[in-house]
Amino acid sequence: MKREIRFQGKKLEYTLIQAPRRDVLIQALEGGLTRVYAPKRMPLSEIDALEGRRAGEIRAMQQALAPAPLRSGECVRVEGRPRRLRLEKGTRESFLTETEWVLFCPDPENARQVRDRARSFLAEMALVRIRERLEVYAPRIGVSYGRVTVRNQRTRWGSCSAKGNLNFNWRLILAPEKCLEYVVIHELCHRREFNHSARFWDLVQRQMRDYQVWKDYLKKNGAGLNF
Ligand SMILES: [Zn+2]
Repeated sequence: MKREIRFQGKKLEYTLIQAPRRDVLIQALEGGLTRVYAPKRMPLSEIDALEGRRAGEIRAMQQALAPAPLRSGECVRVEGRPRRLRLEKGTRESFLTETEWVLFCPDPENARQVRDRARSFLAEMALVRIRERLEVYAPRIGVSYGRVTVRNQRTRWGSCSAKGNLNFNWRLILAPEKCLEYVVIHELCHRREFNHSARFWDLVQRQMRDYQVWKDYLKKNGAGLNF
């Protein structure tokens, strides 16, 4: 449920999730979003009041979340390997070398544009890698799949719909290659087992013996795989 309050003359919006819990949890999300988990029986006026009292703190949390601008010379890991970013003015095609990432931007001073360009470059690269891996593993697992998309998601690495459409997180390209491969295998195995049963994990393991290592890697380092 969307709620809105006023704080120091400014609008503060938040999404309220009423859950069977005893205390209130306030989560600041990327992009200035706020999510509030509150006990089911707590009156809305009380939640608004609490949100108002903590508004300053929420602002601070959101500012901390706002990513620092990407700059030339910065090191970004792509497929787990460090590359030095070089921002260039122009509209030519960006490219990666073994050690460098040359990113063309019409306006390299515009932090938002740089980030958007950087993300879409990597999202395209992620899609290519994912398609390569799908072509290898789908026949091995003996499954087909539908549409493949790459998105900007906060928490999920991949998903598989009942119709077999697959969706992946572009940020997988920032992780070691094996992580992306593991997520591809994971989603393809859902085409045979649409659950997380022991049978499902057995299928995953048959394709990647050490999948647990890469699954854990994403769990531990996932939040940092971003810019
Ligand atoms: Zn799954």
